[in-house]
Amino acid sequence: MEKNFDVIIIGAGPAGLECAKQLKDSKLSVLLIEKNKEIGPKVCAGGLSCLNAKFNIPGLMTRTFNDQIIYLSGKEDRMNLAFPLRTMERYDLGQYLLERIKGIKNITILKETTVKQINKGSILTDKGKFSYKYLVGADGSLSVVRKFLGLKTKVSIGLRYKVPEIVNDVEWRFYPEILGSGYLWVFPHKTHTNIGVFFEPKEATMEKAKEFLEKFLKENNYTFSDVKPGAATLNFLYKGCIFGNIFLAGEAAGLTSRTTGEGIAPALISGREIGMKILDPEYKMPLLKEFLKVKGRQEFFKKMTDAMPFMTKYFLIIFMRLIKIKKFQIYFEGKPSFEE
Ligand SMILES: Cc1cc2nc3c(=O)[nH]c(=O)nc-3n(C[C@H](O)[C@H](O)[C@H](O)COP(=O)(O)OP(=O)(O)OC[C@H]3O[C@@H](n4cnc5c(N)ncnc54)[C@H](O)[C@@H]3O)c2cc1C
Repeated sequence: MEKNFDVIIIGAGPAGLECAKQLKDSKLSVLLIEKNKEIGPKVCAGGLSCLNAKFNIPGLMTRTFNDQIIYLSGKEDRMNLAFPLRTMERYDLGQYLLERIKGIKNITILKETTVKQINKGSILTDKGKFSYKYLVGADGSLSVVRKFLGLKTKVSIGLRYKVPEIVNDVEWRFYPEILGSGYLWVFPHKTHTNIGVFFEPKEATMEKAKEFLEKFLKENNYTFSDVKPGAATLNFLYKGCIFGNIFLAGEAAGLTSRTTGEGIAPALISGREIGMKILDPEYKMPLLKEFLKVKGRQEFFKKMTDAMPFMTKYFLIIFMRLIKIKKFQIYFEGKPSFEE
């Protein structure tokens, strides 16, 4: 097998797959490396906000919700959205993104291969050494490329149960006394429902969060005793995504929203923008810039709760009032972008 590539992308999550798609049919030879046997599966809620609109994810593969329910301090509010939220199984999303780059002459996909070490100009995997002109770290929240660049990581935690019951409402439940500014979520899919908690380690322990989630599942008669929970970290510390000929995308770049945990759209957006930047060094990455504004707005809320944790409940009450206003929804969540 060829050992020298123009571009090596580590990680076939949404960031890596979208980056490879941008480079398809170009003059560059591309190697996409994934440690898992199968592309797609990942512990995730599978929620797609309007920021994913650009990526033409087929409606047939998703469920669409025009309303969402928010719970705070025993009070329930049904909220109508400016843009609907969709849900999609991560296996399906991965396979959809993979399909677009399968069988393309300039792209080699290497699965079941783990990158062990990054060097200047080359990487070492359990299948040997490969050299690169450009390296893209799309290898998630525990990125080896990020470590090589000497960047710190800050994470929140997502814990998820996938239960067989199929329900019809998306729910966000806030319990500031237990999860701080984190929340419990219910995301219905076509064949099951994903239910989990999202929190920062400094605001809740994994043990407490799991206990709380299981109590909720039990009280609401979900079948979970024979289902294994899954957990993963989400890196939200963004320090840039261009480091000479090395790029970071998605979670590896810390692009996940610290406030909502949304990471699929930032992964797709950054993967796309990095691919385009490699093709044209003059490219200004407008979509990423736009997304960073949204991330900044969302994290302003988190900074306030950090500064005054005892006020979290009151900030949430104000937030719940504001988020009912369509203009604020667009300001806080961003809006779809369709232009090519
Ligand atoms: C419980 C939970 C719920 C979530 N819910 C949502 C949601 O509803 N909506 C949303 O937008 N986001 C959600 N997220 C966040 C979202 O899952 C991630 O932000 C998103 O998957 C990031 O995509 P990525 O491509 O950057 O990284 P990943 O999807 O993590 O992909 C990285 C890939 O790199 C591979 N890899 C890692 N290291 C190596 C290595 N050394 N060698 C080779 N391959 C490697 C991995 O196997 C993986 O396939 C959730 C996260 C969690 C934990």
